Amino acid sequence: MNILVTGGAGYIGSHVVKELLETDHQVVVYDNLQKGHKEAVLGGVFVEGDLADRELLDRTFSKYDIEAVIHLAADSLVGESMENPAKYYRNNLVNGLNLLDAMVKHNVKKIVFSSTAAVYGDVEEVPITEDLPKDPTSVYGKSKLFFEEIMKDYDQAYGLKFVSLRYFNASGADESGKIGEDHNPESHLIPIVLQKALGLRDKLAIFGTDYPTRDGSCVRDYIHVTDLAQAHILGIEALEAGKESEIYNLGNGDGYSVKEVINVASEVVGKEIEAVEGDRRAGDPATLIASSDRIREDLAWNPQYGDLKTIIETAWKWHMNHPAGFKK
Ligand code: UDP
Repeated sequence: MNILVTGGAGYIGSHVVKELLETDHQVVVYDNLQKGHKEAVLGGVFVEGDLADRELLDRTFSKYDIEAVIHLAADSLVGESMENPAKYYRNNLVNGLNLLDAMVKHNVKKIVFSSTAAVYGDVEEVPITEDLPKDPTSVYGKSKLFFEEIMKDYDQAYGLKFVSLRYFNASGADESGKIGEDHNPESHLIPIVLQKALGLRDKLAIFGTDYPTRDGSCVRDYIHVTDLAQAHILGIEALEAGKESEIYNLGNGDGYSVKEVINVASEVVGKEIEAVEGDRRAGDPATLIASSDRIREDLAWNPQYGDLKTIIETAWKWHMNHPAGFKK
């Protein structure tokens, strides 16, 4: 199939593209490079464009005879979404609608969508299954949940079939060490810990040590970005085979605390990584662990890099090779 990957120059998108390049599918990346890096796109056709640009979208669908879409382009910072909801609703919803409308116009009926564990909000249940109540605590989470609802309506009215993937904590890097996480500013735990290990940061703080968890720090389900990428391919191929729309969690089902992550990272880098105890970060639930039984059963998804040490080793390879990210 000719597959359009929006946001294909981003952290997760670039790993999806790398995995797609190893299949028989043709890849067209559509990215505005606001956050993404062109160097992260290891092949396929690259179109620099914004989802706000309906004409360019239209031309791209026609020119490359697009048959399916993997949609990752979005703003994704929880804190920023609370300060600037307009930006999140505009980009993630209105611009996302431009994409869906282009799909309907060009009779493209298959989409894999990048959703998030943030749709659940504060849930006590461990692990989290897809049918639990959704009560997102951030505009970011809401924008993703609303888009899922819109896709359901587009399915009902226009026969658009979707697979929505609710990511837990995407982490790690491609085994080659050629692509990896490069956000500016960085807010995610594992890159921050490794930047501290490389001496690129003065301070590493543990955000809260009084949570009701085994050591007081927050527990998260870290999933390797290549395992995540594989799930997109399984999703798009299932839709190609005629599968009905579905929503899946993507996590390993194991939780690690912030302190455990720092300890495993210290082991990987071979020296102690110093951390200070800090205040809680607003909006952080104590524990988020996924049940991914549904995607394992339906799509035979089988993560290869589930172990936290492996995840951190791959991230370390990337950070050591590229301490300044994609900047030369
Ligand atoms: N965290 C931390 N120090 C940091 C960055 C993150 O203690 O410098 C914690 C954060 O509070 C959360 C966990 O690490 O409990 C994972 O955070 P991240 O931002 O990587 O992902 P999130 O769970 O927010 O999607």
